[in-house]
Amino acid sequence: MSVKKLSAKAFNKWVDVCVQEHCVYGVQAKNDRFAFGPLARGVDLRLDYDVTILPPKKYLQPPSEALLKFNKEAEYESITEVEPFVIFGIHPYDIVAISQMDKVFSADNGDIHYMKRREQATLVAVDVQNASDNVFAGSMGTAVVDEGFDILLTRLKDSYLIDIRTEKGEALMKHTKKAEDATEADLKLRQQVQEDNKALLNKHELLTAPQELPALLNQSLDHPVWKEKAELCYSCGSCNLVCPTCYCFDVEDDVDWSLDEGVRRRKWDGCMLAEFAAVAGGHNFRRHREDRYRHRYYRKGRYIHERYGDIACVGCGRCITACTANIANPVEIYNRLREDH
Ligand code: SF4
Ligand code: SF4
Repeated sequence: MSVKKLSAKAFNKWVDVCVQEHCVYGVQAKNDRFAFGPLARGVDLRLDYDVTILPPKKYLQPPSEALLKFNKEAEYESITEVEPFVIFGIHPYDIVAISQMDKVFSADNGDIHYMKRREQATLVAVDVQNASDNVFAGSMGTAVVDEGFDILLTRLKDSYLIDIRTEKGEALMKHTKKAEDATEADLKLRQQVQEDNKALLNKHELLTAPQELPALLNQSLDHPVWKEKAELCYSCGSCNLVCPTCYCFDVEDDVDWSLDEGVRRRKWDGCMLAEFAAVAGGHNFRRHREDRYRHRYYRKGRYIHERYGDIACVGCGRCITACTANIANPVEIYNRLREDH
């Protein structure tokens, strides 16, 4: 649609008005780390963050979500009420992850709960200003994005470029009258920021092209690395829970004490947890840690690709940071498979 520019002062004022006029979630400092949370004041927004503890998917697929109410007469009512909201400051790799989630949740009959939230969300992306210790988005082709957002912000020296792509983005820009058109020189500066980020956001270098991962995994089913690493795994599921492309959930019914009515909920689940693949009769398709450990890498690098055409790792590095056993680095595993083939 258009690319505008706001001075740093006008930008802060614009964020303030957005916060007053909308329900806004934005990145804030949390002890010595960063997290998305409800934003009460523009001044608390930290667009210079390196990575957030959890990805912004928590607003599109909440950790626990009521799906429907039911009663003993077998009547039920879906719960789909969602107010419009804005997520401010999403890094490019997380925008790519949300685009992957959109494909998954809109496939077949579609998931009305996810899609309703997605319709109500305005996504404000931001080019990364500080690389985290474990990011490898440069290797995964996700260090910069050109679609999947309503607005993309890029910090220049003393201003912000604001790339507006949708009507939702236009609606947010109505809260400032100070925006000027970006010049050719501004766009060149942005291009430089984005080129630099492709190199900077690559703290671990994947030695194979992401598109080659399905074929690599296809010939690695019996590789010794699965057993070797799985012996150190606590099956804690942290690598699943912090991942922006993991969307598995479990469904349970909370029945009222009266037994007259109840609520059906879904909660995040993770394939590294021992009970994830348990079924009736005491069977479990992935009872052994080694099978669960291998499954996670196959799902990221092969299974999702077979179904949706995407490599389901965007290189955010959160799993590497979250794993106390230090065994969850996708780059380390994929590079090892490559070296041995
Ligand atoms: S597998 Fe790890 S690095 Fe890849 S997207 Fe998930 S959390 Fe990020
Ligand atoms: S790989 Fe690490 S984070 Fe993942 S389940 Fe095992 S110990 Fe937990």
